[in-house]
This record gives sequence, C-alpha cells and structure tokens, in this order.
Amino acid sequence: HRRVVLAARPHGLPTPADFRLELAAVPEPDEGQVLLRTLYLSLDPYMRNLMDAAGTAYAPAVRLGEPMVGGTVSRVAASRHPGFRVGELVLANAGWQDYALSDGSDLTPLGDLAQPSLALGGLGMPAFTAYVGLLDIGQPRPGETVVVAAATGAVGAVVGQIARLKGARVVGIAGGADKCRYAVEELGFDACLDRREPALAERLAAACPDGVDVYFENVGGEVLDAVVPLLNLGARVPVCGVIAHYNEDAPPAGPDRLPRLMATVLQRRIRMQGFIILDHYASRFEAFRRDMTQWIEAGLVRVREDRVDGLERAPAAFIGLLEGRNFGKLVVRVADA
Ligand code: NDP
Repeated sequence: HRRVVLAARPHGLPTPADFRLELAAVPEPDEGQVLLRTLYLSLDPYMRNLMDAAGTAYAPAVRLGEPMVGGTVSRVAASRHPGFRVGELVLANAGWQDYALSDGSDLTPLGDLAQPSLALGGLGMPAFTAYVGLLDIGQPRPGETVVVAAATGAVGAVVGQIARLKGARVVGIAGGADKCRYAVEELGFDACLDRREPALAERLAAACPDGVDVYFENVGGEVLDAVVPLLNLGARVPVCGVIAHYNEDAPPAGPDRLPRLMATVLQRRIRMQGFIILDHYASRFEAFRRDMTQWIEAGLVRVREDRVDGLERAPAAFIGLLEGRNFGKLVVRVADA
C-alpha cells in the first residue's frame, strides 16, 4: 500500500522533494470501521494551504510525515460497519494513499454513478462551490456581466456556464490560447482573455463595456487589480479563492492596492462575501445535485476532467495545478474500478 506524505513544508511553489512516496502495511479495520480502496483522488488548490504550518481557518495543516489529505472515490474493501458492504462505492476523504480506514461518518454512498469520478468534480465539491457562490452570493441577473478567472478549471467552468444559463454575459480569464478558445467555443462564454498576455486591464475593460456586475473571485492578484476599476454600483463579489497568492511567502510588492479596493467597495456599494463550501452541504447540496444532474444530462453544462494515471504522479500533477498546467478538473486515477 503506497502513500504520499508531506516530507517538507514548501517555500513558494512546492517541489517534488516536499512529498515522499512511502510503502506501508494495509491497515486492518476495527469494529465499526471500513477499509477503503482509493480509486480516484481529487487534487484541489486548498491542499497547498494545508501544506503550510498554519493550515486554514476551516481545516488543520497536514502534519509532516503524514499522508496528504484529499477527497476520494473509494471502494469498500472490507467492512466491520453495519452501514457499508464490501464492493460499495463511496465518496470519502482517504487522502493520497491506496488504502485508508473510516468510521463511516464522512462517507457518502455513490450508488451506481455511471462515471464515479464526477463525484469529485462536475457533481461534487468544485461544481457545488460554483453553484453556491454564483447563485446564492453572486446572484446574476439577465443581461448583467459576470467575470470569472481560472475559467476552464473545475470551479470557473461551471460558474461561467451557470451564469450563461441565467442570462448573464460571461467574460472568462484563463491561462493560454487553448483554454480561452475552449471557454468560448465549448463552454459558451461570450469572451475569454489570456491572463498571460500583456495589458490585461485594458483588454478586460474593452471586453466589459457595461462594467462588471458579478466578479467571482477565484484568483486574486493581477486579475483582481484589473477588475476593481470596472465594478459597477451594487456589484457582488463572491470570494471563493485567491490561488495567485497561495505560494506567496511574503506580501506582494507595492504599490498598496488596499485603499483603492476599500474606496471602491464603499463608494460603489459592493457586496464582497467569502464562503467555504463545507458550510453549505446541509442546506444546498440536494438542490445542486438535482439541477446539475439535469444540466449535464441536457448538455447545458459540460464538465471536463484532466485525468492523471497513478498515485506516484500526484505530486507533479498537483504542482502543475498551481502553475495552471491542468485543463479541467484534476483527478488522479489510483486504481481500476
Ligand atoms: P482549477 O481547476 O481552476 O485549477 C487552478 C487554476 O488556477 C489553474 O489551472 C490556473 O488556471 C489558475 N491559476 C493558477 N495560478 C494562478 C495565478 N497565479 N493567477 C491566476 N490564475 C492562476 O482549480 P479549482 O477550480 O478547483 O479552484 C479554483 C479556485 O476556487 C481556487 O482559488 C480554489 O482555492 C477555490 N475553491 C474554493 C472553495 C471554497 O470553498 N471557497 C472550494 C473549491 C475551490 P489558468 O491557467 O486558466 O489561469
């Protein structure tokens, strides 16, 4: 049984040496526990935050020498729990390893989902994040302009497509020409700008002639700088993530943009609201699953998976995610169903 542990706390972008692939004995379930075999492992940006000693306000840091944490689609390999039978597929938190134990409290049965890995992406946490952040906080109205970066990623692609369904005009920002073409041609965005080309602020202003009504904040940094001057009166800014800052060891170089941001929030009556998706499962997950299943089946929302084969490739794939090398929801196939 292989597991990838945190070998060192990264400085800046993680390197392969911050992870270590180890062999360990397959654990034995106690009474009330199940043994899980990992089939698919989800790789997500928040994992970078959990590599830092401070962790986050909603989850503790991964300890040195312990397996990296992560959501998984797992198969019950052995069960001493009355609620789970061997062979069953579950959504779990088994982390970056072949096998893990669970007392069942964090498991969700997946039934016979045709594409189980969807439970980690298009029918799971990232798409749910898009749904709650956009609909409950962003509240786009027909004709309004919605801007989202990391536009072809697990969250951003769903934000843009739901915004289109609600009648908004959607401008994406993504890394590279291929991603931008995909956002427009396959996902139906009205426009998509390459964040790696110069003069982003000018190009964004040109692409948003009526200003910005909803800015779904996925990245921070230069994208936020470009959006702030365009925010309309009463704009909504769901603050979902700031991936451009996750690798920063020190505050970014000046000038200090905070006074301008605060003046904009104040004068233009902006509602900026952070949210952590964990808080919303009890109240909103069922509505999400119903709507999203329908949209996917009807071809109204497309979900793209970037699948990597083999647990040993997880570190490199995760580093790639932080550099924008993933194209769609990043998932590692750990074992065959
Ligand atoms: P993605 O699939 O979008 O992958 C990350 C993408 O971020 C990269 O592909 C890249 O896209 C972009 N990116 C990386 N570095 C930078 C940078 N320096 N500047 C701008 N863009 C960058 O990941 P997710 O969809 O899973 O996550 C998107 C955001 O949502 C993250 O900030 C994440 O932390 C947040 N999130 C928040 C949740 C919550 O509960 N609040 C839950 C889930 C996710 P590109 O090449 O196109 O620029």
